[in-house]
Amino acid sequence: MIVVRTVAALRDALRDRRAGAVGLVPTMGALHEGHATLLRAARSADDTVVMSIFVNPAQFDEQADLAAYPRTEEADLALAEAEGVDVVFAPEAAEVYPAGFATTVSVAGLIAETLEGAERGRSHFDGVATVVTKLLLAALPDRAYFGAKDAQQVAVIRRLVADLGVPVELVVCPTSRDADGLARSSRNTRLSPDERARALAIPRALEEVTDAAAAGTTDPEALRARAIAVLEASGIHPDYVAVVDPASFAPIARLDGPALVAIAGRVGATRLIDNTLIAPSGALAPGGS
Ligand code: AMP
Repeated sequence: MIVVRTVAALRDALRDRRAGAVGLVPTMGALHEGHATLLRAARSADDTVVMSIFVNPAQFDEQADLAAYPRTEEADLALAEAEGVDVVFAPEAAEVYPAGFATTVSVAGLIAETLEGAERGRSHFDGVATVVTKLLLAALPDRAYFGAKDAQQVAVIRRLVADLGVPVELVVCPTSRDADGLARSSRNTRLSPDERARALAIPRALEEVTDAAAAGTTDPEALRARAIAVLEASGIHPDYVAVVDPASFAPIARLDGPALVAIAGRVGATRLIDNTLIAPSGALAPGGS
């Protein structure tokens, strides 16, 4: 495994490997088992696996969150090596955003403006879209791997790849969870034991909504109310509980096909997000997150 810090070095490293398929797994480091599932998917499909580590300042709406974001490069490199990564691209911010940088990739419309876009501000998904575009251009992978845990991020990236004609196949991997159901996240390390226990209300709320939908509830407001009750009982006042169309992120009037349930909320000082696909009763169970 080699570690490169510049786009030029990345391109050099990949020059002789383009005869086979190249897979890219973009990350912000602080790797955990969730990232490992993406790396394994890439390892099994691609001849060369590239993983990027870049804590992208442009997508953080809170300076404190950026400052507190865990940085564990040594451990990340060990995990990457163990998972068979060939090339790690870990640039400094100045490599990604050189002096004079003035271009933003901005996906318009609901998928970038609602939920996380509304909570974290317009600049969040602009930051995501811009850095992902840069990473795709730097590595020019055949496939790029993303987690269903960040469902809205996936929708935004899908849109920009289609709109800009980026020649890459997006692979979305299911949300990886701890045994008790909590979605794995680099932010989980910030939870106290009490907060960690209370955070379980989030997957429980998703399960409750899944069950209610399967049992015949089709009113999205009734589904939201079920989830909110579960969250509030654990002292979590959600930023949002949304039942939306999985492609457009538009709120649905009635559950008559697959829908995405998305939850965001703070547990103590730590903001967590999670989601799942649901289906009305009688429909095939969704295979997603
Ligand atoms: P991050 O380092 O948090 O930016 O995440 C890098 C990639 O890993 C993103 O595509 C995430 O959606 C994905 N990811 C993070 N946590 C999980 C998880 N628990 N399960 C699946 N994918 C995940």
